[in-house]
Amino acid sequence: MNADKLLTQLHGLKTVFDDKESELTALDREIGDGDHGVNMKRGFNAVDDKVAGGSTKEVLKQTGMTLMSSIGGASGPLYGFSFVKMSDAANDEIDADNLAEMLEIFSKTVADKGKVEGGEKTMYDVISKSADVLRETGGLKMEDLQQLAEDTKDMIATKGRAAYFKEKSKGTIDPGAQSAVYIIHALGEGVNN
Ligand code: ADP
Ligand code: MG
Ligand code: MG
Repeated sequence: MNADKLLTQLHGLKTVFDDKESELTALDREIGDGDHGVNMKRGFNAVDDKVAGGSTKEVLKQTGMTLMSSIGGASGPLYGFSFVKMSDAANDEIDADNLAEMLEIFSKTVADKGKVEGGEKTMYDVISKSADVLRETGGLKMEDLQQLAEDTKDMIATKGRAAYFKEKSKGTIDPGAQSAVYIIHALGEGVNN
């Protein structure tokens, strides 16, 4: 995936999050404040508007800065800062090995910034396992990523707004885990096509 392809994939997330707004809103209504759909839609509409080109590193960095300034809520700084950090590792041509490296950084950044571990029912439960999925299966298939999000259903949230719901957070997919599926899938598609 060169810089042009990366930009295409990131711009493509505008359409994805336009389509998935109501799904993410519904999840965040169950165990949050109901704004995750709007947050992600606003974020990737801004990326589509404002991120115009440059090297892979520049595209990732601009994407991160744009997400930080356009997404309100916990997910903005987590995704935003992660894209900025991933830019450090990106090669001019991102192959599967390089993407796996970037996903490890994504995971580490969310862990550090969110002070989160696996099993706390957050986006981290998808992000932290994605590099292994890529290495083990050679790609990032939607069904494999979706399974990681489904796995958050049975978890009890201990981070973010969902933590206020305690036991009642059980039975719903974490909204951030679901949005992470779409972001990581788009990056994987760029490498495989
Ligand atoms: P807010 O909760 O501020 O309204 P969003 O609804 O946009 O923000 O994002 C909520 C998502 O952010 C959650 O579903 C969860 O995946 C993620 N999240 C919240 N807090 C943390 C944290 N400390 N670490 C990792 N992810 C978190
Ligand atoms: Mg919310
Ligand atoms: Mg909010």
